[in-house]
Amino acid sequence: MLNLDWGNLPFGYVKTNCNIRAYYREGKWSDIEVFTDDKIDMHIAATCLHYGQECFEGMKAYRGKDGKIRLFRWEENAKRLNVSADRILVPQLPLELFKKALFTVIEKNHEFVPPFGTGASMYIRPLLIGTGAQVGINPASEYTLIFFVTPVGPYFKCGFAPVDVLIERNTDRAAPQGTGNVKVGGNYAASVKASIEARKENFSSLMYLDAKEKKYIDECGPANFFAIKDKTYITPASPSILPSITNNSLIELAKDLGLKVERRKIEVSELDNFEEVGQCGTAAVISPIKRIVDKEKNKEYTFCKDGNVGVYSTKLYNLLTGIQFGEVVDTHNWITILEV
Ligand SMILES: *Cc1c(COP(=O)(O)O)cnc(C)c1O
Repeated sequence: MLNLDWGNLPFGYVKTNCNIRAYYREGKWSDIEVFTDDKIDMHIAATCLHYGQECFEGMKAYRGKDGKIRLFRWEENAKRLNVSADRILVPQLPLELFKKALFTVIEKNHEFVPPFGTGASMYIRPLLIGTGAQVGINPASEYTLIFFVTPVGPYFKCGFAPVDVLIERNTDRAAPQGTGNVKVGGNYAASVKASIEARKENFSSLMYLDAKEKKYIDECGPANFFAIKDKTYITPASPSILPSITNNSLIELAKDLGLKVERRKIEVSELDNFEEVGQCGTAAVISPIKRIVDKEKNKEYTFCKDGNVGVYSTKLYNLLTGIQFGEVVDTHNWITILEV
């Protein structure tokens, strides 16, 4: 085991032993290759640079209580990468190649999977980019697959802390028939300016509304939104949100807890009636929200009024993180243990 300050790692890039790459040329994928260099040599007219022909995934490897390395629902990330790829005309990646790249990058960097009990984990970033040259608007003829890893610290350094969120009415991250439902860099390019402005005012993230009517809740920057009301887990149905694997898993756990589940349009005004609200995604699992500010409407919604995170958010968080770290029985068969 390496001697890193696991509890204080930032969510940033730490150089590890190696990264994995594969190439798509002349209509077929190469086998994987291992690189110690973390730079790539690419054509200046590559489509990923000019026309955003790039998609990615975000997942984690966890060190369990038993010392073993665990992956959470990795096949779901593989499937979603192919949905994203299809939307931007990137060729499909065979599941076996995704698996080989994933398992190899972890095995070769296993000492960077933080020890159990630190709250830290290893972030895995699969990236699929058009690297063939084009100047006219056409998909590339060559693609590069990259898997890199970096250890990341616990999301909550001082406990399960509720955050403030700002409703964004002046920027759209995605249009109803745009690319909001796939994991592509362009969605982030569209929203980074507004996010950074909000962060300067101490908002942890932005809440985007449906771009057409600005009436319904879409999602919170890089995380899905959920609410709890009358023993019901409610999450938005929208064509412009990214189907979060964390959210889909929380839905299953909510059912296990006896909650009803509703996936439907959620009007902003409903925020007045919710008992608990939160953002969910791989990075934090659940980031509970204590305040939602709607500047344009001069309105504020507050939660966690007694200073505590809601009971169901806490239960769901403990269950999901418990499964990921091997402390809770994995009744849904979500975990793959890697023998390293
Ligand atoms: C990745 C991502 C999420 C979270 O998805 P998970 O599979 O739960 O990590 C939510 N929204 C957006 C826009 C994302 O890019």
